[in-house]
Amino acid sequence: MSAGAWRYSRPRVGAESTDRLRRRAATEAIHELGHTFGLRHCSRPSCVMWFSNTLAETDRKDVSPCAEHARELARALDAG
Ligand SMILES: [Zn+2]
Ligand SMILES: [Zn+2]
Repeated sequence: MSAGAWRYSRPRVGAESTDRLRRRAATEAIHELGHTFGLRHCSRPSCVMWFSNTLAETDRKDVSPCAEHARELARALDAG
């Protein structure tokens, strides 16, 4: 497993906005989906495939891949 540590940290729901939780879930879901398509971790913090260690980092991360990973993903989808 990878960037999913937040799943086990039991964040206090209510202290967080629903929006942020939803965004976090979406970001991590897309990240994991990227792995299933063979995508590796990214060195760009703005990329969804960037490996984040903390919630703050996950919040900083974008829900979309960088240009390079977008290309890789498109190639993987084409191949499938
Ligand atoms: Zn990962
Ligand atoms: Zn990337």
